[in-house]
Amino acid sequence: MKKGELLYQGKAKSVYRTDAPQELVVEFRDDITAFDGGKKAVLGGKGTCNARVSAFFFELLEKAGIRTHYLGMISLSTMRVRFLSMIPLEVIVRNVAAGSLVQRYPFQQGQPLDPPILVMDYKDDARHDPMINDEIIMALGLVTAGELSEIRRMALSVNRLLCKHLKGKGITLVDFKLEFGKDEAGVVMVGDEISMDSMRLWDAGSGQSLDKDVYRFDKGDVMEAYRRVAERITGDAGGRSR
Ligand code: C5P
Repeated sequence: MKKGELLYQGKAKSVYRTDAPQELVVEFRDDITAFDGGKKAVLGGKGTCNARVSAFFFELLEKAGIRTHYLGMISLSTMRVRFLSMIPLEVIVRNVAAGSLVQRYPFQQGQPLDPPILVMDYKDDARHDPMINDEIIMALGLVTAGELSEIRRMALSVNRLLCKHLKGKGITLVDFKLEFGKDEAGVVMVGDEISMDSMRLWDAGSGQSLDKDVYRFDKGDVMEAYRRVAERITGDAGGRSR
């Protein structure tokens, strides 16, 4: 597997072509950004933490029959993935009210949301990722109605799986974001990453943030939080012993 030309450079990941046309390499970098790139830093070891957690969750999903772009790890911070044609939607599932939901609507911070709320944002940095609905998605021709139901079904299945795993580690999955793409045959799969940068995780006992909110809101040592939660998520020990 040879890392080829840089295909795309995101805020925290770089995507490279390889010598196999349908495979890419994703490098999880140490960059961290928040507030539309308004706050930036480089944190040594952050790329490997996010890569490890993402790989762990992709494997969990694959075992449960949910298709993802994940093919394996090349190094601690680089992942082999399938080439997907990405759908410009950020699919967010919320189990507890926090973040932009609380800023925009009259929910109480920490209010449980049962059933979970699924929202979609249109992925476009220049437009600040506006919230989108089915009719706009259809009018823009981003996906078919069938693909949209498939995306919803998959996102809620991922939520059930992640909630169950994290609960066993003493962690509440407050919310998270998924991105989807289609392979050559048009099969919808989970792409991008599932990491502390794309989830809100609260310690079930203390309510302490264990994710990018530590960076966003200067809640403590970001790398210590990322390392500890990565260990909790991927390790064998349950939440109670920690
Ligand atoms: O900011 P908001 O409350 O809408 O974020 C909901 C969830 O989606 C959070 O877990 C956040 O980290 C994630 N998210 C993301 N990328 C974005 C927007 C939100 O990973 N561009």
